[in-house]
Amino acid sequence: MIKFLDLNHQYQTIKNEINEAIFSVVNDSSFIGGPKLKQFESDFAEYCDTKFCVGVGNGTDALEIAIEALNLPPGSEIIVPSNSFIASSEAVTRTGHKVVFCDVDSATLVINRSCVEGFITERTKAIIAVHLYGHPADMQGLLDLAEEKSLFVIEDCAQAHGAIYKGKVIGGIGHVAAFSFYPGKNLGAFGDAGAIVSNHKELIHRVRMIANHGRVGKYDHKFEGRNSRLDTLQASILSVKLKYLNDWTDRRIQIAEKYRQEFSDIPNITLCEKSVDVKHVYHLYVIRIEDRDNLKDYLNANGISTGVHYPVALPKLGAYSYLRKEQDLSLLNISLSVDSKLLSLPVGEHLSDAEVSYICKTVSDYYSNC
Ligand SMILES: *Cc1c(COP(=O)(O)O)cnc(C)c1O
Repeated sequence: MIKFLDLNHQYQTIKNEINEAIFSVVNDSSFIGGPKLKQFESDFAEYCDTKFCVGVGNGTDALEIAIEALNLPPGSEIIVPSNSFIASSEAVTRTGHKVVFCDVDSATLVINRSCVEGFITERTKAIIAVHLYGHPADMQGLLDLAEEKSLFVIEDCAQAHGAIYKGKVIGGIGHVAAFSFYPGKNLGAFGDAGAIVSNHKELIHRVRMIANHGRVGKYDHKFEGRNSRLDTLQASILSVKLKYLNDWTDRRIQIAEKYRQEFSDIPNITLCEKSVDVKHVYHLYVIRIEDRDNLKDYLNANGISTGVHYPVALPKLGAYSYLRKEQDLSLLNISLSVDSKLLSLPVGEHLSDAEVSYICKTVSDYYSNC
């Protein structure tokens, strides 16, 4: 079976270094904070070309803490793309604000200025720019709009470590950015982990306090925060893996280019377009087809596992039934109709050239047989 994701394969390629990093933390028995955490935070800030990085417990916490640190009036409206993982919108509600879903661009399936514009009211205070699948959202358009309307742009970078938009690495383009290092992400820990990056000193100061009980010094708490820290063990693992991230990303891009070549002539397949001026890091390689479930079953029967991201657009989830009375769903037409057509093919450094060719051949056989 060709795996969709193979974490053990990646571990085997860097096993000694990872084991050393783990044992070194265990030897120190310094599990919270310390120089190894600081090292990762500074390495990752450098990787994102940002001034600051704060490690936190996971990507969802990163989003929540980033929003909280903006000190928005309670009940502010925050615009979230309908095509994303629930954490993107969950963080809005959890911090006491109101989710307003917008649609996505039909070519890239991420947001741009025109996706968001119609949803802005006088209560809108922020936009969550999700760089979904590893493709940067159209940051220039969003930042222009944000400037005109006095909004914050929060980047959800959970799927896009190292992606580039018009020459800038994502993470430092908006006001604040949230990363996830969930094991299956492009940079993944050995458990839950996340980070917040930003160039704004005051904002990052609040982020650090919120994530650590509102603390400025030992037993000196300025307000009630929470406990969301990046474990030193995870930080040490991430420091090792960060060195390989660009190589792994290059391999993702190589596979994506092969898929693009092979599939662009198959009329039944709609590929997601890549904007000019971006480096797409292909956390997921998503195609759109009418007979999604049939192709998925066919690939599975031929030894290829696939995924669907995401099978139900966020506004259609049970969690948002309350919103359906307020929001006009016909304005979210692309997200709400594309979810039944999405299929994610395997992409990642675990795949051999032979496996990639086999995937291409199996997909094209399916369409030449039917
Ligand atoms: C994975 C993911 C998150 C949440 O990250 P966790 O570390 O799992 O909490 C948020 N947004 C998007 C787009 C994601 O893919």
